Amino acid sequence: MDVPDISTVRSAFVNSSRSKAASMTPPASWPPPHADELDFVGWVDPKAPRRAYLAVAPVDDDVIAIELRLPSSPPPRRQSMCDLCQTAEAPAGSLLMVAPRAGARGKNGDSVGLYVCADFACSLRARRPLKAHETSVSGLPDTRVEALVERVVGFVERVRA
Ligand SMILES: [Zn+2]
Repeated sequence: MDVPDISTVRSAFVNSSRSKAASMTPPASWPPPHADELDFVGWVDPKAPRRAYLAVAPVDDDVIAIELRLPSSPPPRRQSMCDLCQTAEAPAGSLLMVAPRAGARGKNGDSVGLYVCADFACSLRARRPLKAHETSVSGLPDTRVEALVERVVGFVERVRA
């Protein structure tokens, strides 16, 4: 994706107050590595380990950024499937991330949660070459990236709705 500058991201939060968005700390390197291979950018706040963020730039739309809360207790060791890339390949597993909904609903405690790779590298996993047993014998195209984009945008839209 065309990774926007950090001030654009900061002003694109849909479920965060202006003051909270102002306190967001970007990752050490911006734009992130492999930016052209990313369908979304996600990171944990370097100064607040329970706050994470996800930014996406849907086709025909402006950048949308959401704030996520991470679990307070250590995650179970069991590898859980990521809801975005639908793999369990992240070395640190997937974490349940919860996004307060935008506006009044969020203020009333309404939120949307899903499991996401702890390292947010779903885009790279969706681009990993398929292993022999994963390729379709019927020659169906590999739609992992398209499916990932659809799920990320769907999630962000649910938060924003
Ligand atoms: Zn993932």
